[in-house]
Amino acid sequence: MSGKLYLVGIGPGSLEYATPRAIEAIKGSDVVVGYKSYLKLVEDLLSGKEVVSSGMRHEVERAKLGVELALKGKKVAVVSSGDPGVYAMASVVLEYLAENALRLEVEIIPGITSALAAAALLGSPLGNDFAVISLSDLLVPWREIERRIELAARGDFVIVLYNPRSSKRNWQLDRAREIVLRYRTSETPVGIVKNAYREGCTVEVTTLGGMDTEQADMLTTVIIGSSRSFVYDGKIITPRGYKRKYSLRG
Ligand code: SAH
Repeated sequence: MSGKLYLVGIGPGSLEYATPRAIEAIKGSDVVVGYKSYLKLVEDLLSGKEVVSSGMRHEVERAKLGVELALKGKKVAVVSSGDPGVYAMASVVLEYLAENALRLEVEIIPGITSALAAAALLGSPLGNDFAVISLSDLLVPWREIERRIELAARGDFVIVLYNPRSSKRNWQLDRAREIVLRYRTSETPVGIVKNAYREGCTVEVTTLGGMDTEQADMLTTVIIGSSRSFVYDGKIITPRGYKRKYSLRG
């Protein structure tokens, strides 16, 4: 008998922002696998379950373990924060299945990814085209990341930065800012959201020139506006379209 593997996104933090389906899948699983701080967010759902937690760097081990348990017939929930398909476990699990020619029933349950959580707290910075870039060069060469920042900046995309800074990766955000400043003014709005929808949530609206890159950490999402983004009443707004296409006068 083969079990089932749920790849569950639990959203940015508080369970209010997880979907009913995500909660149902965790409740209905025999085993829950995840990074320990994510499991803390869902600890109310874990009583009576086998729980396997591990450190951040062990994504492949977590994937392997989840697959093995599901192949043995268990219902397994592999939990990611935000969405499981965005810089998270869904790819690792599906790649592992593909690489080893394994077949298993898998259900992927989407969650609110950090870009959307941060955007909601900032206003409407994603009202037009945007690019999402992770500044983590642990799995992708920095050269490639830099190239994408450059192209997104040239394309005037709003730019969402995941993994902006950690204690070891402490120069990438400054470098990203330098690159974007070649194409945008120092007045360009920037939003910095830490711990979105969790304890310790902070939201700052600043500018590309004035941003304090040192305050970013591994639980921070940074949104850099396009040339058309502006700030009104503390909120970053990227217009939905070009003004002449619609009239907003009340
Ligand atoms: N799967 C996750 C992303 C994992 S990468 C998702 O869909 O959101 C980890 C990065 O996500 C962090 O470095 C940070 O940039 C962002 N992040 C995760 N949780 C966050 C939160 N609560 N508030 C702000 N950013 C967060």
